[in-house]
Amino acid sequence: MSQYYKPHRNPNWNYGGGRFRLSRSKIDLFLNCPRCFYTDNKLGTARPPGFPFALNSAVDALFKKEFDIHRADKTAHPLMENYDIDAVPFEHSQMEIWRDNFKGVECKHKSTGFTVCGAVDDIWVTPNGELMVVDYKSTSKDGKIEALDQDWHIGYKRQMEVYQWLLRQNGFKVLNTGYFVYANASKDREAFDGKLEFEVTVISYEGKDDWIEPTLKKIKETLESQSIPEPSKDCDYCAYRKASRDVLIEHQKNSNSSKEKESKSGDQQAFL
Ligand code: SF4
Repeated sequence: MSQYYKPHRNPNWNYGGGRFRLSRSKIDLFLNCPRCFYTDNKLGTARPPGFPFALNSAVDALFKKEFDIHRADKTAHPLMENYDIDAVPFEHSQMEIWRDNFKGVECKHKSTGFTVCGAVDDIWVTPNGELMVVDYKSTSKDGKIEALDQDWHIGYKRQMEVYQWLLRQNGFKVLNTGYFVYANASKDREAFDGKLEFEVTVISYEGKDDWIEPTLKKIKETLESQSIPEPSKDCDYCAYRKASRDVLIEHQKNSNSSKEKESKSGDQQAFL
C-alpha cells in the first residue's frame, strides 16, 4: 500500500460524522455504483485514488488566469465574443472559495440535512445578472470537439447540472445554458519542440437539474439503510475482485491438499 492510500478513513468523514459532505463527485459515484458509494461514505473505505492529471490541471490553471484578467476588467474574453456569448466572467467575493476543491459552492439541503458541495471552474454573467456555469476541459484527440456526444460525457453534464443547482440554492438566478471550454491538443505536428498546440472550442449545454432532488432522497435512504446495495453491472473491477478472490481460494485449497498429501506420505515413509 502506498503512503497516499488509507483504506480505512477517520469515521468523522463518513456519513454521520461531523465532517461528512456530499460532493458532486460523490453524487456521481452513487449514480455509477451505489455499492461503491456505500462502502466509501457509510463504511469509510474509498477506492484508491487515480494519479493526478497534471497536464489537465495546468490547462485549467492557465484558463483561470486568462479569464481572471477579463474578470478584473469586466470585459468579454475573445472566445466569448467569437461564440456570440453576451456575458463577462462573473466577479464575486466568494469566487476563490467556489473554485476551491476543498470548499466549493455549498448548500445545506433541508430535507436530507446533507451539506452538498462542488467546486466550479468559472461562472459568467449576462448583462441581466443571470449566471452561466462554465467548465474547462482538456484532451488530445483527432478532429474538432464540437459536441458532448459520447456516453461517458454524462458525467460532465451531471457535473454542470449540480453546479447550476448549487448556485440556485444559494439564491442566484442561473441559466440552464452552461458552457464547456474545451482545449484539444494537436498531435498533427512535425515534432514536440517542447510545446503543445491547442484548438479551443466552446460547447454550450442545456442543463436540467430535476434529477437532483430525487437522487438526494435516494442517497439518504441508501445511507440510512443497513442493506448493502447491489454492485453496478457494468463495472469490471467487481468482476475482477470476485474472479481474483475465487482463484486465490481455489489455489489455497489445492495447495493445502498437496501439503496434506506430502505430509501424509512423509508420515508413511517415516513409519516405514
Ligand atoms: S461494481 Fe465496481 S464500482 Fe461497484 S462496488 Fe464493485 S468495484 Fe466498486
